[in-house]
Amino acid sequence: MLAVARHEHQPAGVPAGGHAISIHGVVKRYGSIVAVDGLDLEVPPGVCFGLLGPNGAGKSTTMRMLTAQALADEGEISVLGYELPRESKQSRLEMGVVPQLDNLDVELTCRQILMVFARLYRVPRGERPAAIERALELANLVGRADTIVRELSGGMRRRLLVARGLIHRPRLVLLDEPTVGLDPQVRQELWSLIDGLRTGGVTVLMSTHYIEEAERLADTVAVMSNGRIIAQGTPVELVRAHAGEKVLEVYGPPDRLAEVSELAAGNGWSSRRSGPAVAIMRAETLDGLAPEGALRPANLEDAFVALTGEEIE
Ligand code: ATP
Repeated sequence: MLAVARHEHQPAGVPAGGHAISIHGVVKRYGSIVAVDGLDLEVPPGVCFGLLGPNGAGKSTTMRMLTAQALADEGEISVLGYELPRESKQSRLEMGVVPQLDNLDVELTCRQILMVFARLYRVPRGERPAAIERALELANLVGRADTIVRELSGGMRRRLLVARGLIHRPRLVLLDEPTVGLDPQVRQELWSLIDGLRTGGVTVLMSTHYIEEAERLADTVAVMSNGRIIAQGTPVELVRAHAGEKVLEVYGPPDRLAEVSELAAGNGWSSRRSGPAVAIMRAETLDGLAPEGALRPANLEDAFVALTGEEIE
């Protein structure tokens, strides 16, 4: 895998040659719904690993099992070398968690929230002020340290959630949909923050349904659908394997698009409707029958749609 060798030093606590996260044969049911269906996943230390999938794929349930907020019905999970759920207290102390939903106490200031969590995560008393300053700086909230949460913007609250999850310098960070609902500028800021973690040797597991987020940040992407991993690799590997090198986009009125879709089906070409166009994958392999259109490089969204049949952001 692409970035496994990027960090030379094995983070402390992960057994030599071991994985930061290891999930085997995990099943989670809610009544008759199988949210996670025989999941196998291994995250090596020091990488940013993206779990990409449409709504309902089982990403959040997987995240909740890694923090032991949900218990697996079957299978084995280990985090930082600790077995879950038996050793979940230890693993929780050593990892940082940034939840999807904002559960901040709106009456407290940023500094107060970070102080509460520094204590909770057992940062030694003498080190707490410096830990809080570091987290505020990391999340670009120094100027807002003494503002109460109620008065922060949505983006600032999200950055505070990240700062809170990093207060104890965790070696592993779980980010559940880190930029959902944020404007492009705040999203960019968070992306830089996440990228900085990874380059600092922290293992990041991030769930997302934003293709661009996975493509920009993740060393390895696992595509999840119906509670399972259906494909895994670097973004480039996934694109090459499932969409090829080039995509041919044919534009035209609806009857022309229907005609092109039929032509593609008749020739066994992989194609999809993409807004006002039909996109044909692996255009580099088409012979003289190819209709006229515009060629563009294939991207992760093409691969994702080819794999799941779903359009997402
Ligand atoms: P999203 O991107 O929408 O957050 P997801 O990939 O995170 O989706 P999950 O939230 O893990 O998906 O949900 C997987 C399936 O499990 C869905 O069918 C969902 O309705 C179901 N589910 C999740 N949590 C519960 C619960 N507490 N009780 C009942 N069903 C649940």
